[in-house]
Amino acid sequence: MKIVEHLANSDETIISFEIIPPRRGSDITGVRNTVSRLANYKPPFIDVTSHAAEAVYEETKNGIERKVRRKRPGTLGICSMIKERFNIEPVPHVLCKGFSKEETENFLIDLNYSEIDNILALRGDDPGFIRPIENGKTVNEYAINLVEQIKSLNKGLYLDSSLLNAEGTDFCIGVAGYPEKHFQAPNLMTDIRRTKEKVDAGADYIVTQMFFDNRHYFKYVDTCRQAGINVPIIPGIKVLTSKEQLKSLPSMFHIDIPLELTELVMDSKEEKLIEAGVKWTYAQVEELLKRDVPCVHFYVMLDSSPVEEVLGMLGF
Ligand code: FAD
Repeated sequence: MKIVEHLANSDETIISFEIIPPRRGSDITGVRNTVSRLANYKPPFIDVTSHAAEAVYEETKNGIERKVRRKRPGTLGICSMIKERFNIEPVPHVLCKGFSKEETENFLIDLNYSEIDNILALRGDDPGFIRPIENGKTVNEYAINLVEQIKSLNKGLYLDSSLLNAEGTDFCIGVAGYPEKHFQAPNLMTDIRRTKEKVDAGADYIVTQMFFDNRHYFKYVDTCRQAGINVPIIPGIKVLTSKEQLKSLPSMFHIDIPLELTELVMDSKEEKLIEAGVKWTYAQVEELLKRDVPCVHFYVMLDSSPVEEVLGMLGF
């Protein structure tokens, strides 16, 4: 079932989750256990992130060696597990960066045959190396180009234009939005116009980058509506669980951590840290629920316990 149908059919705010595949070489047990715990909250959908190959540098006895590795494969396998074993809609993330359009088309066909109905279409970030593109192959530069490719496939238009009367897919498409602006956009308004282009190209809903101050989200939704974006805008929420994240989250995701939360975390003893993060998220989600947001999307990644604590406090 499509995410937009889940949203339209529910009178209450939906709860959804996002998980990350384990590192290459790990088994699936940890992820399966996480999904099993999350399944207790009856989420209509769970997102699974996607990771392109990236350049890594390793110190060896011959000096520093540069290797190109895909650290976290397995998005499709985990999605199939979520669907088949738990009967929950999986939402695989599909990337532009690191993949040719031809590889993407093959992946979309795999998703279609796995009866996966939803996709979050993303550009991805610079993988730190230049992958030569074989003669005749093409790439999607921005998420909008990927949305266009998926929409074309939905109409039965494959890259090989000689395929006539080909079977179309029927994917529901989500895209990313940034209440505090995407880091490469010159300003928030230009970024919102780019997001509108993704919606005009066929995106059905938006999931936001994490934020720790709800005012960013409410203002973002208002500005998007004024700019003519009318699709659901799902807030993405993360529980802050370590002092280290006061540095790592702003540098990785280009977001602000409010002074009050920063002070709360800095002043907390190590054993009280998670409690501080959980309380903050509880207050954030409580306000979002009061404002009847369509869905609260929790960035769980590998460890579901902080999110479960928040849901427990909220009475889920
Ligand atoms: P785009 O929408 O293409 O935008 C990227 C930048 O280009 C923006 O600054 C935009 O304003 C600008 N832009 C857009 N179109 C144009 C144009 N035509 N001309 C010029 N500028 C343009 N990354 C992963 O690798 N794997 C994941 O699983 C993953 N999941 C994510 C889930 C969510 C909910 C979010 C919010 C992000 C996720 N990311 C993931 C991170 C994402 O890949 C990065 O933030 C990336 O830098 C941008 O992706 P995008 O799809 O927003 O790009």
